[in-house]
Amino acid sequence: MGGLDAFETWTDAERRRTQWERLSAKLPELRRTNEFYSAKLPPRASGLGDLPFTTKADLSEDQDAHPPFGTNLTYPIDRYVRLHQTSGTTGRPLRLLDTPESWEWWRECWQPIYRAAGVTAQDRIFFAFSFGPFVGFWSAFAGAERLGALCLTGGAMTTTERVAAIVAMEATVLMCTPTYALRLAEAAREEGIDLSRSALRVSIHAGEPGASIPATRERIEKELGVEAFDHTGATEVGAHGFSCSARDGVHINEAAFIAEVLDTTTGEARDDGEGELVLTNLGRWGMPVIRYRTGDRVTAVRGRCSCGRTLVKLAGGIAGRVDDMVTVRGVNVFPSAIEAIVRRFEGVGEYRIALARVREMDELRCTIEAPLDVAERVAGAIHRELGIRCTVDAVVPGTLPRFEMKAKRFSKTNV
Ligand SMILES: [Zn+2]
Repeated sequence: MGGLDAFETWTDAERRRTQWERLSAKLPELRRTNEFYSAKLPPRASGLGDLPFTTKADLSEDQDAHPPFGTNLTYPIDRYVRLHQTSGTTGRPLRLLDTPESWEWWRECWQPIYRAAGVTAQDRIFFAFSFGPFVGFWSAFAGAERLGALCLTGGAMTTTERVAAIVAMEATVLMCTPTYALRLAEAAREEGIDLSRSALRVSIHAGEPGASIPATRERIEKELGVEAFDHTGATEVGAHGFSCSARDGVHINEAAFIAEVLDTTTGEARDDGEGELVLTNLGRWGMPVIRYRTGDRVTAVRGRCSCGRTLVKLAGGIAGRVDDMVTVRGVNVFPSAIEAIVRRFEGVGEYRIALARVREMDELRCTIEAPLDVAERVAGAIHRELGIRCTVDAVVPGTLPRFEMKAKRFSKTNV
């Protein structure tokens, strides 16, 4: 996988010192010209712990009150060159602006991600992505150009057209959501094409935890003939994480982001442990986020990884949104834990999970495309491994709708 960058093997002291140097150097300017942060930041700060958290609600309310872009602007508006929006998974989309410098920072953030996956200038990278206002793989495309790879857009194509383009252009790397990787393999089979025999050798996935869920990753690797890597990022924060050869989690790029973990019960933020991921970006100074509560539930581990990096690792990737955790008869479960079981069974296609509140009791119901006996075995495994009862209904393959982008397989209802 080649050599590591100096920041990838920082000691704790080197990391803390460099991160604070980079952030504190910009605080005076933010206090002076950025209306949003000048109202938030204390007049003096001797460390990260002196700065307040930023929430998505803070940013949304600010944009509602000061349309269309809010007041988190460090520079006059004519300095900005790109607009992106959040995908709107939770609430109204946020608008994010970038300057030429911050867009360059995004491109730079992709270099360690590609390097960890062994992607080089010799590769042809296919982006199965719509290229709409959602930042998604826009920055990955720009980062791949910077790397010197051949970038192949898969925008405005049907799934069948994308399969044909991957084969015809001899793409070696695929970028898409985990769900869509499996959808591409399925569509290829219907056309009599076996993508595992194509030139594809690596895939990088974002938008869902799938590539860090062993059963999902193994299925992608088998069906596409690739080594699959996970990537984490957010429109309002940046492209921050990537999986390495250890394949047991996601490292955060700590040269470009400060990562903390917030214990939501005590309100205490630490360097590692279990809780909500809090990120500060170091390079998007035109519209920064400082101590931003991502809403992602993680377990952060420090120490040297088998890949040689000392960058903090989110064990098992991002388990889910803090809001997605459900409690069934006193047991806390993330939908990703159910996916980890469902995907292990041969012959399972698409699936859905529904949490229904029936007479003050939460009940979990799973619908899967599989034969009845497989559905029964899935229910048994969920009960055995997670300690919860889940009704599993079997439906005919092809019954459930397919997803193009981010999958929404989990729903909560009140009965
Ligand atoms: Zn590693």
